[in-house]
Amino acid sequence: MRTEPPGGEKPKSERVLHGLGISAGVAIGPAFISDDGEIAVPEYRIPADGVERELQRFAAALEAALKQLRKLKGKSAALPDSAAEEMGYLLDAHIAMLTNSRLVRGVERRIAEERVNAERAVQIEIGAIGDSFAAMGDAYLAARGEDIRVVGARLIRNLTKTPYAALQHVAEGTIILAEELTPADTALMDPRRIAGFAAVLGGPEGHTAIMARALGLPAVLGVAGLLAQVEGGDTVIVDGTSGAVVINPKRETVARYEAQQETLEREERQIARLRRLPAVTRDAVEITLQANLELPRELEQALAAGAEGLGLVRTEFLFMNREDLPDEEEQFEAYRGLVRGMGGRPVTIRTLDIGGDKLAAPLAETVGAGSANPALGLRAIRLSLRERPLLDAQLGAILRAGADGPVRILLPMISSLGEIRKVREALAQVVRRLKRRGVRIAEPPPPLGVMIEIPGAALAADALAAESDFFAIGTNDLVQYTLAIDRGDEQVAHLYNPLHPAVLRLIQFAVEAALRARIGVSLCGEMAGDPRFTALLLGLGIRDLSMAPGKIGRVKQRVRALDIVAAGRRARAIMDQLDDARIASLLDDFNALA
Ligand code: PEP
Ligand code: MG
Repeated sequence: MRTEPPGGEKPKSERVLHGLGISAGVAIGPAFISDDGEIAVPEYRIPADGVERELQRFAAALEAALKQLRKLKGKSAALPDSAAEEMGYLLDAHIAMLTNSRLVRGVERRIAEERVNAERAVQIEIGAIGDSFAAMGDAYLAARGEDIRVVGARLIRNLTKTPYAALQHVAEGTIILAEELTPADTALMDPRRIAGFAAVLGGPEGHTAIMARALGLPAVLGVAGLLAQVEGGDTVIVDGTSGAVVINPKRETVARYEAQQETLEREERQIARLRRLPAVTRDAVEITLQANLELPRELEQALAAGAEGLGLVRTEFLFMNREDLPDEEEQFEAYRGLVRGMGGRPVTIRTLDIGGDKLAAPLAETVGAGSANPALGLRAIRLSLRERPLLDAQLGAILRAGADGPVRILLPMISSLGEIRKVREALAQVVRRLKRRGVRIAEPPPPLGVMIEIPGAALAADALAAESDFFAIGTNDLVQYTLAIDRGDEQVAHLYNPLHPAVLRLIQFAVEAALRARIGVSLCGEMAGDPRFTALLLGLGIRDLSMAPGKIGRVKQRVRALDIVAAGRRARAIMDQLDDARIASLLDDFNALA
């Protein structure tokens, strides 16, 4: 590993930046700046009747670019004064280049008159503007030519929606640095090659963060000014626990972090020894610890961690990084692989939860398109019920996989009884269709459960319990919607608080409704995987937690140290409080003692 430049060059000075540590662990390695690469630009001719559509496609990419730049500008306000000012000027210049500019008019003219596709039109126009600036032989204008190129690359990225395919080919041990990484980009990261990542944008409970934790990659998001301070190949340390990113670390800093890496590895080895021990409290109450799966390749990890089932299979993975939709057959193969792999332990498959920060190219035009509030728009179960062939294919695939082992169907973003009833009708129709064709399916049909992740669903939990076979409480969205905090926005991350009394009351309400109706209730939001919350959740009556496979060991360790009676008493004391700071101290004091 390189910590100093070779042969007499002046060493670069160490700089420490801070963001949100969203996936624990330390990574040390050379930086790869993901936005630097040239994007392959497709080139084709637009038919005369396709010009309007192409202009609209360009307008959408332009709007997205302006939105991204404004977001970056908001973020740069967090930088120290002079850096904030400089970054502000630069981003303003980029915004101006996209507002009724020669670039925009030129691209529109090339699309309309020369019938060139939008990406290629942008590329030609940037080249022409860059050449004319260079011809003037002025250093200031030459620098503006470079800005035009950077702005053009942003437009082209938005048009091609290219996932960071380059991430698959980086050298072993690389640290990825980017402006923003989508969950689909992150899904492409191979933990054997990539050591960790950091980005300017992104919040603690968005899906990029969840994906990082699923892959076990140390990561820091929301790092203001990150890309202005680093060059490709610089040595970088990403401390996913504290949120620090160190650029060009001194030798002593590297040594300190290497020692930290060793301590973490030792702790992991100790935790791994718990694998075969049951998750049982000191007063002999059994707790079920299951795994959440983001990607099928985590199955091995789930088994290695001793998961007692898959409490949440996020099926979005099947729809990411591709242009077409997976049909029933393809989904069936994928789900059957999980069911067989779990060898008789239950597998809870959630229907498609696309929307909000989880986007998939083949559905990009349908999901939340044109919605001013995509998180509240056409997504998850709402989309499945509108696009019935999508839902039917998914239900068919789950029913068929259920012939090989126990499966459960889970519905995301349920807000009303009507939605559950419609899915039950759809399920009955798919069962009839498959039986008519003599296809082997789960017999009897699998339990149908709902996510409790919308405040209204939690408040109506007694009604929903009457028509659901089980509840899975999704605290990631429950916190987002209860407190009106975008879970993926680093600027409001400090307000995202699972210990807010409103959130805890909704959890309690849902648990009590499930217990009264005698249906199962689990919790599968990120809270489930954080040992800090274990005593409180068990104290509230939850006995089933589902989390990223890598979290099971630490939560099991916590469960085995707890006394459920004491946890229940402390939970009641906490539920009497209205002040979230007091709630946090009551919980932390309890954790420090027991
Ligand atoms: C949740 O919202 O808590 C949840 C588990 O679902 P997701 O994170 O996939 O939205
Ligand atoms: Mg959710």
